[in-house]
Amino acid sequence: RMELKHVTKRYGKNEVVKDVNLTIEKGDFVTILGPSGAGKSTVLKMISGFEDISEGQILVDGKDIVDREANQRNFGMLFQNYALFPHMTVEENIAYPLKIRKIEANQRKEMVENILEVVNLKGYNKRYPKELSGGQQQRVAMARTIVFNPLVLLLDEPMAALDKQLRKQMQREIRKIHQDLGLTTISVTHDQEEALTMANKICVMRDGQICQISTPEDLYEYPNSRFIANFIGEST
Ligand code: ATP
Ligand code: MG
Repeated sequence: RMELKHVTKRYGKNEVVKDVNLTIEKGDFVTILGPSGAGKSTVLKMISGFEDISEGQILVDGKDIVDREANQRNFGMLFQNYALFPHMTVEENIAYPLKIRKIEANQRKEMVENILEVVNLKGYNKRYPKELSGGQQQRVAMARTIVFNPLVLLLDEPMAALDKQLRKQMQREIRKIHQDLGLTTISVTHDQEEALTMANKICVMRDGQICQISTPEDLYEYPNSRFIANFIGEST
């Protein structure tokens, strides 16, 4: 279980995340939903350790992780611009985080094979990124993010650049990975439809603050403000 307590981020005098409190249970699929500039990516970056927090605490099973380096937190983060290494094959790309973690070659090979099956890319080991479609590259990036069995999967709109059909396909795959591996997932999006279909808990953000945390059903039926009602009601 992960707890964000009074998490705040300032850039100079500009407070972009204000006193965020959020609890994520093991196995949850939490989606942070909100308009551009709300502070969603910043929250994810503070969880992953890519950005320092200005104030507050992030606890995992009661322990403060704020002082731990990003690679010690054992979280997998997938960004919107998930660049693969162009000079490496699919299997080399996926094995990269395993190499960093000093996992030996035999075991690396086995883990890569397993994960290629999970993302439906068996047999693509020796291809280079430029020999893959956008959706296939996306799945390689996903494989690279989850191959080392992270504690938590962090997704920052990795599907934003894909067309609608590919996005749907990717959403199905992410849901499947979440279910099959029981992986706790925190995702960020400004697509309300995506949030409503993927998450079991939605956290709506605006101007650096959380304005509602609830199940998709409750958010849809009982939005606690006009802003949320309008935001949820918008069609994509
Ligand atoms: P989007 O949906 O457009 O990705 P977001 O909700 O992810 O938006 P953030 O990227 O978290 O928004 O940014 C929140 C605010 O913080 C924005 O006003 C942004 O300009 C500001 N900000 C982000 N990174 C920095 C930085 N490194 N230095 C200064 N300001 C920043
Ligand atoms: Mg963002």
